[in-house]
Amino acid sequence: MRVLVVEDEPTLAMQLVEALTGAGYVVDTTDNGVDAHFLGEQEPFDAVVLDLGLPLMDGLTVLKRWRAAGRVLPVLILTARDNWHEKVAGIDAGADDYLTKPFHMEELLARLRALIRRAHGHASVELQCGPIMLDTRFGRFTVNGQLLVLTSHEFRVLDYLMHHIGELVTRTDLVEHIYAQDHDRDSNTIDVFIGRLRKKLPPGLIETVHGRGYRLICPE
Ligand code: CA
Repeated sequence: MRVLVVEDEPTLAMQLVEALTGAGYVVDTTDNGVDAHFLGEQEPFDAVVLDLGLPLMDGLTVLKRWRAAGRVLPVLILTARDNWHEKVAGIDAGADDYLTKPFHMEELLARLRALIRRAHGHASVELQCGPIMLDTRFGRFTVNGQLLVLTSHEFRVLDYLMHHIGELVTRTDLVEHIYAQDHDRDSNTIDVFIGRLRKKLPPGLIETVHGRGYRLICPE
C-alpha cells in the first residue's frame, strides 16, 4: 500500500515517513500544496495524510480540487489544535477522517488502516483468503495459523493482493503500489516477488492471468 504524506514541518514529516515505512507502507512525501495536488492527480495512492496549513496551496484547496476531479482516494487531514472550524471545513471538503495535532503515531496508523480497509469494502481488521489470514492491525500474515515470514516487498505484494481478492491485479498496479515515485520501477521484479510468495504459500492461491497480471483465489 502506498501513502502520500503532505506535511511542511520537516520533523513531523520525517516522523510520519519513519512510522509509515515501519508499518509496511511505501511513502511519497511533499511539503507543499501544489506538488501534493499534482501527485494526487497523477499517482494511484492508497491513502493520503494531508496537513491543511501548507505553502503554495492550502490543504483544503488541494482536497477540494481532487474531489471536484472525481479522485476518491482516502484522505486523512491533520488539523491545528483548537480549530474546530478547520475540521468541519475539511470534512465538508471530502476528508475521510482527521487528526488534531499533536497526535499519537499509533492513532494515526490505526485510523489509516481503517480508512484503507473501508476503501476496499472490508469491515473487519482481519482479512481472510482460504488458509491465509492478514491481521491489518499488526501487518502480519498467517497461513493455517502459522506466522508467514516475508520480506518487505513480498509483504507489500501480498498485502495489495489481499485487499483485492478475486480481482485481476496487473503488474502495473503492483509496481505503482509497492514502489515510491522516485524508485527504479521494474515490472520484472514483480514476477520475482510472486515466485517467492508462491513458494511460501499453499499451491494454487496466486493465479497468473496470462499477459496481464495476477489474481488471488480463495478456496472455500
Ligand atoms: Ca503546516
